[in-house]
Amino acid sequence: MARRILMIFLAAALVLSLAACGGGKEVPGETRTVYTMDTVMTLTAYGESSAAALDAAEEMLLALDAKLDRHSPSSLVSALDRDGRAENAELAALTDAALHVGALSDGAFDPTVAPLLDAWDFTGDAPRVPTETELASLLACVGLENITVEGSTITLQNGAQLDLGGIAKGYAGDRVRTVLAERGIESAVIDLGGDVGLLGKKPDGSDWRIAVKDPAEPSRFLGVLTAADTFVVTSGIYERGFEENGVRYHHILDPKTGRPAESGLVSVTVVCTDGAWADALSTACFVLGEEKSLALRETLAAEKGNRIELIFVTDDGRVRYTDGLSGRFAPSEEGEYRYEVIA
Ligand code: ADP
Ligand code: MG
Repeated sequence: MARRILMIFLAAALVLSLAACGGGKEVPGETRTVYTMDTVMTLTAYGESSAAALDAAEEMLLALDAKLDRHSPSSLVSALDRDGRAENAELAALTDAALHVGALSDGAFDPTVAPLLDAWDFTGDAPRVPTETELASLLACVGLENITVEGSTITLQNGAQLDLGGIAKGYAGDRVRTVLAERGIESAVIDLGGDVGLLGKKPDGSDWRIAVKDPAEPSRFLGVLTAADTFVVTSGIYERGFEENGVRYHHILDPKTGRPAESGLVSVTVVCTDGAWADALSTACFVLGEEKSLALRETLAAEKGNRIELIFVTDDGRVRYTDGLSGRFAPSEEGEYRYEVIA
């Protein structure tokens, strides 16, 4: 945990120092650190009302976590997992979004992987590799077909459990962006523990510059992305996991096997204007691998009219990024990677 927090601060510090060196007229900014959703969030807002806006955002985040945290017995998600049914408009809408990404990704994103996550215990005190028999019996209650959303009612069948860990942080980012904007903030960086949401442009009117972490060495960077008013979310094997007998087991599961996904990728970064979608898609793309992720990108563009951009880091040392990022992603010179644009 200590190491993870250090990584987060390194990443956050670079974004913020880049944000601060814009030059031009001084705009008062304020930074707030919020420990929530099992990570460290750093919110920086610019403008006169930033302190009050950050107070509101912090309060909202803590309330949201209290609602969505599956491990807190008093949360709404716990109640749903216990009772198999819950009624709440916000939870229903978020679950629906999760199911939508699930369907688009052919089940690569699946918010019912909870029992598998518990068996692996990635974030707990005793992480371990479950036996094949155990995985097989747990897989029986995993599947998108076990969740139904009707209006504001969510129903679980077949012993399924809901886990929104793959989408909740991004959604929280959307909510923070709205809370800040409603209070008159036009410029902010929402760091969700390494994943970043950008509200507007820098106070001086130029684009933000976001350093994308090197998955092999998170104190280094793959490159710098120039962006505004969007989310930049990464899923990778370095995030959380454990090692046993020299093998690393990470926390993004392939719902078809119940084991950590092996798709030839070390990380995927998604650039998308919607935080919840960016978060869920980064998890989905990580499971899908490069080729299927690019097909999903095409479907999204056709279906939602939503263009997303992707940066893949492959396990054979290549950084491949979609052509929409040409001119906006500047590869770093310190790494050992080969950089390629996907035409
Ligand atoms: P992080 O939260 O560490 O930034 P991700 O956004 O990729 O990383 O989300 C990983 C989390 O998503 C896991 O901790 C778990 O709660 C959940 N998860 C793991 N595998 C899947 C999956 N295939 N589909 C949906 N959620 C998943
Ligand atoms: Mg995610």
